Amino acid sequence: MARYTGSVCRLCRREGQKLFLKGDKCYSQKCVFGHRPTPPGQHGQARARKLSEYGVQLREKQKTRRAYGVLESQFHKYYEMASNLKGVTGENLLQILERRLDNVVYRAGFASSRAQARQFVLHGHIYVDEQKVDIASFLVRVGQTITLRLKSREIDRFKALREGTGRILPKWITFDAPNLTAKVTALPLREDIDLTIQEHLIVELYSR
Ligand code: SF4
Repeated sequence: MARYTGSVCRLCRREGQKLFLKGDKCYSQKCVFGHRPTPPGQHGQARARKLSEYGVQLREKQKTRRAYGVLESQFHKYYEMASNLKGVTGENLLQILERRLDNVVYRAGFASSRAQARQFVLHGHIYVDEQKVDIASFLVRVGQTITLRLKSREIDRFKALREGTGRILPKWITFDAPNLTAKVTALPLREDIDLTIQEHLIVELYSR
């Protein structure tokens, strides 16, 4: 399945929730969802009908997948990984999604959205433990450091980060602003993940 290239604000309206896909715009008055929270399309409002149990589970999975920008096949692979780990499958799934390199780059404040973070990774700006990693789905481990390629540090956008990211960092990431280096100090716990997700619905969907 190809990556979605349409309006991402439609996805928020479709899922009935802000998914923070457009960086700074999401935190401003320009956020489309703020003044048009109905489902997209001419008859969007009429389509906002009561969902079946399956429909509710499906929407929760789609919402989560879209928030992290993951394709269906990859998402299913993450679910299988999560169900093979010890602990609660839904929480394991969210932890795996949070460990994706594009997400860590976003959470650390290098990028204003996961999509922008993915671009930075694919364009070779990001190094993990001093090695270039240009795979957005790379899963970061505890103790690893994320930094910028030396040449990239002179780009205005990144230079500004030396003053700090201006973002509230999750508890599991630290940021050394002068050296433009983030470190993953722990695995994210469920309470560290601020997206409104009912992960048990995703587990129920895949367990059908
Ligand atoms: Fe969603 Fe951001 Fe668009 Fe608002 S601006 S609708 S949060 S993608």
